[in-house]
Amino acid sequence: MERRQFLKATVGMGALAFLQMAGLGCEKTGSSPTVELPDLPYPNDGLEPYITAKTISFHHGKHHQGYVTKTGALVAGTPYQNMPLTDIIRGTHGDPDKAAIFNNAAQVFNHNFYWKSMKPNGGGRPSGEVGRLVDGSFGGYEAFREQFLNAAQTQFGSGWVWLVTDAGGLRIVQTSNADTPIATGEVPVLTLDVWEHAYYLDYQNRRADYAKAYLDCLVNWDFAEKNLT
Ligand code: MN
Repeated sequence: MERRQFLKATVGMGALAFLQMAGLGCEKTGSSPTVELPDLPYPNDGLEPYITAKTISFHHGKHHQGYVTKTGALVAGTPYQNMPLTDIIRGTHGDPDKAAIFNNAAQVFNHNFYWKSMKPNGGGRPSGEVGRLVDGSFGGYEAFREQFLNAAQTQFGSGWVWLVTDAGGLRIVQTSNADTPIATGEVPVLTLDVWEHAYYLDYQNRRADYAKAYLDCLVNWDFAEKNLT
């Protein structure tokens, strides 16, 4: 195309179309040195057949990465840019003007914690100190399992189910959307992501089956034990 024809064509398409053709938008960019996507503690197919490599690759590579990217863009040039992730979360919690930063930063933390809450060949009855606390706090593992599965099933819409420390014992907590127990200073021990993106490719609407697979076949009680304070 000759230059004159090119100019005519580009002027004719309008500024917006030209910007789109050039790949330019108004997306903010930027990053934080403290907010990065961690590698998974296992390969993408490490949790199969309970959670497939396809689910993990989208969940970690697209959803989790998306929260990291958005957090970086939102904190760039603000006092939050160099803060540790937990300080960003606590510093923005409950402030409607900072909701976007809170939501994305909290989702980064929640996913970091979720990946570590599972392992290949995990699941089943806990031993050690965490096993003793489960027995003492819930009246035995079976009662704990029933309460945890019920919490997963009754969390309305997107959110998380957590096991947190509670006055020398353990307690099950549900949070909605991005909300996270660390925002209010609670100490999480394990978490289960109950957003549909966590299970829909593998289980469709059967969230209960996903939660059972998590507890019976995937949960990382060694990680839970390390989180006891
Ligand atoms: Mn998720």
